[in-house]
Amino acid sequence: MSSLSGDKYLLNPTPDAMPKTADVVVIGGGPTGAAAVWAMERARPGLKAILIEREERLGAGSSLASLENYRTCWPNIPIMKQMQRSVAVLHDADIYLGEGAAQSIHLKEQGYLFLAMGESHAETLKKDVARLHDIGLSHIEYLDAGEVGRRYPALRDVVVAAKWDPTAGWMDSNALIHAFVRAAPNARVLLGVTSTQIRTQGGRVVGVRTPLGDIDAPVVILAAGAWAPLIARESGIALPIILRPRQSFTTGYRHASFGSDWPMLIGEPPAPHVRPEAGEGAIFGWEYHWHSKWAPELEPNPEHDAVREPSDALNRLKDPRFPSLTLALMARQFKHGEGEGFNDPRYLRGLYHNIGYYVYRDETAAYTVQPDGTRLSYESERAIICPHPDVPGLILSVAHVGHGVMTSPAAGELAAAYALGLPLPDPDYAAFSLDVPYVDYDAPVL
Ligand SMILES: Cc1cc2nc3c(=O)[nH]c(=O)nc-3n(C[C@H](O)[C@H](O)[C@H](O)COP(=O)(O)OP(=O)(O)OC[C@H]3O[C@@H](n4cnc5c(N)ncnc54)[C@H](O)[C@@H]3O)c2cc1C
Repeated sequence: MSSLSGDKYLLNPTPDAMPKTADVVVIGGGPTGAAAVWAMERARPGLKAILIEREERLGAGSSLASLENYRTCWPNIPIMKQMQRSVAVLHDADIYLGEGAAQSIHLKEQGYLFLAMGESHAETLKKDVARLHDIGLSHIEYLDAGEVGRRYPALRDVVVAAKWDPTAGWMDSNALIHAFVRAAPNARVLLGVTSTQIRTQGGRVVGVRTPLGDIDAPVVILAAGAWAPLIARESGIALPIILRPRQSFTTGYRHASFGSDWPMLIGEPPAPHVRPEAGEGAIFGWEYHWHSKWAPELEPNPEHDAVREPSDALNRLKDPRFPSLTLALMARQFKHGEGEGFNDPRYLRGLYHNIGYYVYRDETAAYTVQPDGTRLSYESERAIICPHPDVPGLILSVAHVGHGVMTSPAAGELAAAYALGLPLPDPDYAAFSLDVPYVDYDAPVL
C-alpha cells in the first residue's frame, strides 16, 4: 500500500516513492529525532534531511507514556544548561518553531513542588536548593511549613517544607514533535518504514538500508529511544545503554482540593508524583521498582536491574497493581483517610494505565574510578548525544532517561551540531559524550 500525503510526509511508501539520497538521515520520530531535524534546518536552511519513523505516526515511543513535564531545577551543570536552552525555545515557541507553535504545545507553567513530610527530607531539600543557588538557579525557593501552608492551605498539616521550581510545568509533547517537523520545511518524513539498518562501508556510514530500498547519506542520527540498541545491533554496532520499563496512569477524576491551577506535586522518596491533567483529571507516576526477573527473556542487566532490549509485548510488563499502589502511597504521605483525597475510589474508575522505557547509560558509560582503580557504576541522568567513537558518520542521540521531552530542543541542537560539523552550542555539552563517564550531581534527582 502506498499513500502520499503531500511532499513532506510519505506514509507507507512504495519502493519507487522512496528518496534515494539525503544529507542526513534521522532514525526515530520521537521528540529527540524530530528536534534534530528542526535544529539542522535552523543551522543549515535547505538541508536535505530525512526522518524515518517505523510506526505510521510520529511520537510512537516513550513519549506516549510521558508525563510531558519540564522543570529547571537540575543540579547537574550540563543538564541544567540543556534545560535552560530548551525552556528558552519552549517559552518563545512561535519564534523558534513558527507561528502557532506556542498555542499548539500549550505550555502550562504551573511549577513543581517537591514536598517534605518529615525533617530529614526537609534537610535534603534545603541542601538541594543551596546547590541550585550555587549554580545560579536563584529562582528556586526553599519554602518552610508556614509558607507552604500560606500558598497551599490544603497542605498545611501535612508538609514541613518544600522546594519550589516556578519555571516548570507541562506541555503537549505530541504537538511539540509535530511543531519541530513543521518548522523544517525541507525535511521529508517517512512513516511506516520498518527494519531500517545503518549501512557502513570501510567502517564509516554511507546511509541506511530499508526493505523499500537504500538511502545514501554521509550522516545518520540514531534517535530511536529504547529501540536504538536493536537497530545498532542489526548493523553490527554495540550501544552502551540499558532500559527500564516505567509506568504512568491518567485518571478522569481529581479531588476538589487539588485544583486545576496546582503545580506538579512530588512526594517524599520514592517520590510518587502527580499533576492536574485535562480539566477534571490527573496524571501520576513514580519509579516503581523494576525487577528484571519479571522478564528474563529481555536479557536482564543485573548490575542495574534493567534490560538490554525492548519487548514487543511492552504492555505485558504493566503491573496492574501500579495505579492502586501509587494512590495508596500518595494517600499515606498526604495523610488522607478512608475515601478522602487520593484515597477516593473515584480515582480508580476509568483510569488509563501507560508504560514506556527510561533509557540509561550502562555501566561502561557511567562510572566512577575508585582509588584502587576499580570502576563503580552508577545510574546517570546524562543522555548520550555524540558521534559514535568507532563509526564515523553515526551520531547518537539516546539515553534521554526521564527528560527527553523537556530537553529535546537543546538535544536536537547538539545532535545537529555534531551532524553538521559545527561547534558545540555550549562547551559543557561535551559531557554528553560517551567518553565522559562521570559528572558531578549526575544521579537521579526525582
Ligand atoms: C512513564 C514515563 C514518564 C515520563 N515523563 C517524562 C516527563 O515528564 N518529561 C520528560 O521530558 N520526559 C519524560 N519521560 C521520558 C521521555 O518520554 C523520553 O526521554 C523521551 O520520549 C525520549 O525521546 P526519544 O526521541 O529518544 O525516544 P522515544 O520517545 O522513545 O521515540 C523513539 C521513536 O523512534 C521510533 N522507532 C523505534 N524503532 C524505530 C526504527 N527501527 N525505525 C524508525 N523509527 C523507530 C519509535 O516508534 C518512536 O517514535 C517519561 C518517560 C516515561 C516512560
